[in-house]
Amino acid sequence: MIRPLIVIALLAAAPALAAPPVLDTPVKDDYWQAARAALGARLRAVNRPRRAKNVILMIGDGMGIATITAARIYDGQHPAEGPPRPGEENSLAFEALPNVALVKTYNSNAQVPDSAGTASAINTGVKTRIGTINFGQAQDAAACKTPEALPTTLAEIAKRRGMGVGVVTTTRITHATPAAVFAHVPNRNWEGADRAFPAADRASGCRDIARQLVEFAPASTGGLDVALGGGRARFLPVARGGSRDDGQDLVAAWQARFPAGRYVDGAAGFAALDPRAPGPVLGLFNNDHLTFEVDRDPAAEPALADMARFAVAKLAASAAGRRNGYYLMIEGGRIDHAHHASNASRALSETQQFSRAVAAVLATINLDETLLLVTADHSHTMTISGYPERGNDILGFIRNAAAGEGGGPVSPEGFALDDQGRPMTTLTYANGPRSSPPLSPTLPPNDRNRLQDKTYGTQTESHGGEDVAAFAAGPRSNLVTGVVEQNLLFHIMAEALGWR
Ligand SMILES: [Zn+2]
Repeated sequence: MIRPLIVIALLAAAPALAAPPVLDTPVKDDYWQAARAALGARLRAVNRPRRAKNVILMIGDGMGIATITAARIYDGQHPAEGPPRPGEENSLAFEALPNVALVKTYNSNAQVPDSAGTASAINTGVKTRIGTINFGQAQDAAACKTPEALPTTLAEIAKRRGMGVGVVTTTRITHATPAAVFAHVPNRNWEGADRAFPAADRASGCRDIARQLVEFAPASTGGLDVALGGGRARFLPVARGGSRDDGQDLVAAWQARFPAGRYVDGAAGFAALDPRAPGPVLGLFNNDHLTFEVDRDPAAEPALADMARFAVAKLAASAAGRRNGYYLMIEGGRIDHAHHASNASRALSETQQFSRAVAAVLATINLDETLLLVTADHSHTMTISGYPERGNDILGFIRNAAAGEGGGPVSPEGFALDDQGRPMTTLTYANGPRSSPPLSPTLPPNDRNRLQDKTYGTQTESHGGEDVAAFAAGPRSNLVTGVVEQNLLFHIMAEALGWR
């Protein structure tokens, strides 16, 4: 018989006698150590509660996988503080979220989609046609006369259940992605009462998107608790500097519907707002889209991260939000616009701002009660190619790695040359404008106004049709996994809120 004390002594001695760990390797460099730490974090991950009180959907418009990778490198090379890094090892804020899925973005009638159809899929659970917002794929303008037959949106259900609802964007708030939160329209261009919404179409009984924002949700449930973005001209009559030809002043109409509401149209007014004050907030900071971040005047327009932070605080403090939770959609909307111009510099800096907005949101929410879903509506045609060396300026010419498949001629400066003897940039597009002043293809590659090279010359660069990513944390985020249809995202948000 072995006495217990001896057993303990034997056990204590055992590790010295045992074989080395299976994973022992002579090379345990920084990458190896970081990967082990990342594994440990996954093993320690705890399951969140199944029920979300709040849902925050954040959409990087046009933020495809290549955009995420390039922006991750750009962000590392242009950090908010500290010295620039090579960048490839960097992570954007939403890349830290534990659950990821690939999302199929096609519209019901389009292989390569647009924001109207994709945002409709996310907001209603119904896939629909390109250019259409929250209409069924077989419904047309005639359905405006029977609005009860149109797909129900997450925001409409949320309002019925007494929740708070908010929209934040850097585009016109009447643009496709934000409009999909609060509007139903068979043509995404019907943003206001102007030339884009001809008289014959107005006779269909459909209402323009700006008007639908002001009239959103029945009086019994109240309107949007917070709406921040651009697009002021769509709300004001021509006589007041707007673009409406029907004489309506929708800002005045909104103020009349919500006497306790606060309307602001500049950064100073926005900064003075108290998120705990009662009443809804409408902020329209530009007649058109908000300005790209690199061109933004902080005295005129708030940053996306500041608007996001305010909206979360506002909804969390509102009576509806405190009692029944909230649904908030936040869009980094101009990644898409910079890509359409094939101006990679601004597309990446807009993605960096979007990441900072995600960081601002993550810093204020409790993931035990809030589902955070970060995704893109669709991709673009930008690719990352060549064999640039580690840490090469992501906006620069390709400087080849010393060894590898690069091969080919090299300029005296060390840049890889194409078959015409021209240096090539790492980022190129499949299509887009050949010239578009003040953007130019002859500027240095890392100039903010550089127009990127492309295969086909077209008036505007197009969307891309490959899958996008969805990142998620919080209740039910474990359902965000695998390769999924885009409209599943609606059903996951609904499930997290306990809606069946
Ligand atoms: Zn677009």
